[in-house]
Amino acid sequence: MRILAIETSCDETAAAVVEDDCRVLSNVIVSQMRVHSVYSGVVPELASRCHIEYMLPVVREALEVAFGGEVRSAGFSLSSHEKVRSAGLSPSPGGEIRSAGLSLSSHEKVRSAGLSPSPGGEIRSAGLSLSSPGENRAKASTRIENRYGIEAIAVTRGPGLIGSLLVGVETAKTLAWTWNLPLIPVHHTMGHLLSVFCELPEGQSRILEIPPEGQPASAQWETIPAASPIRPIGPICPIGLTSPTAPTRPTAAFDYPYLGLVISGGHSSLVRVDSPLRMRLLGSTLDDAPGEAYDKVAKCLGLGYPGGPVVDRLAAEGDSEAFALPRPLLHTREYDFSFSGLKTAVVRAIQDFGGLARLRESETALKDLCASFQAAVIDVLLKKTERALKRERLRRLVVAGGVACNRGLRAKAARRLQSVHLVFPPPVLCTDNAAMIGAAAQYLPPLPRSEALALDARAGWELP
Ligand code: ADP
Ligand code: MG
Repeated sequence: MRILAIETSCDETAAAVVEDDCRVLSNVIVSQMRVHSVYSGVVPELASRCHIEYMLPVVREALEVAFGGEVRSAGFSLSSHEKVRSAGLSPSPGGEIRSAGLSLSSHEKVRSAGLSPSPGGEIRSAGLSLSSPGENRAKASTRIENRYGIEAIAVTRGPGLIGSLLVGVETAKTLAWTWNLPLIPVHHTMGHLLSVFCELPEGQSRILEIPPEGQPASAQWETIPAASPIRPIGPICPIGLTSPTAPTRPTAAFDYPYLGLVISGGHSSLVRVDSPLRMRLLGSTLDDAPGEAYDKVAKCLGLGYPGGPVVDRLAAEGDSEAFALPRPLLHTREYDFSFSGLKTAVVRAIQDFGGLARLRESETALKDLCASFQAAVIDVLLKKTERALKRERLRRLVVAGGVACNRGLRAKAARRLQSVHLVFPPPVLCTDNAAMIGAAAQYLPPLPRSEALALDARAGWELP
């Protein structure tokens, strides 16, 4: 089935077109990383506003990547430098969002675009109206039409930030209603777990990073060459910039049942996957997710946001035994994780060393502390994973989510789990994306038509 999928659970605005056999025709992502980096973490209100700003351009771009230039000729497109700049965002809370092509920033405008801001609220307008800057609105307005054989709309219903989820859910409802298509709600974690089946051909991914306020847009759409073929360790790349070169075709190589470890800024879940419709949560975090711990530790160390990639890089050059850090819950509660104590231990280690300034003056201490922290995270993740593999008698493992980009984790997992068929999806499919939502939707039943418009977003949705 040809599915248009939407994902807005956190800080990526994403849309994708996915066909039978999870073949990805397009995978478009606007990353808000730079907007939130000012605050060293995701600011939910800003995330929602960015989603409103970029949702429709991202849908349009996903259609355009999948089906060619026809879509662009219909109106607004985000593919040039200049247009990216003109669609710039103000990252300050309460600040005005400057909208170039999309007049969707106020309540009234949201309504007029067919996006109802209240969960389950009535959708007032059928048309998705896009206008170009400076042009007469009536003259410039256009519609995204379903001329491309889209057969269903899929959307992340939860879990995630409620304001972020709402933008995606209401957009999906509007598109489904406008085009008279079935609507498929998808669990975010299920998407990560099934991303392993995506076939991502060369050049179908595009990522845009929003520049911080006051800075010119240096970013533009990056065409991601392709994903890595399935193998124990995929090549690593900075999130959203480059990617390995060979296309991926994992469906033939991977099968059920398997264990899934989903680790990101908002999640850490160990899940037994028997089929797309039979998954069982074995354990999850009791407090912070590992990505959150990376981000908080990086903040304490003055390393900026997001913390994962930079801590990973520094850790590679440090001594992981230089600082004695705890391995929380290693020997207790079977499969649950806890990372907030580890973050506190890092803060204490900084104090014991004589403060951050002293630590950063030392040539090795900062790298050593990053290495020690990373070793503790990896140890806990892998120990629990090994335990679950053994007890559940599973020999296949998928590690997904933003933290799955971690080089140290990939290397150590490959060394420790040699008898396991281990898969790390390519980085562009590890961080939040809509391709995985479209892939998961291939296996899920659509909502009955009569229930589609009542679909709500679920911030705390548990794995069904
Ligand atoms: P979220 O649902 O939180 O947006 P993502 O899947 O987008 O999650 O992943 C973002 C998280 O992944 C951030 O917390 C970031 O620090 C973390 N991350 C990214 N790259 C790495 C890395 N190389 N090592 C560890 N963590 C990483
Ligand atoms: Mg994210």
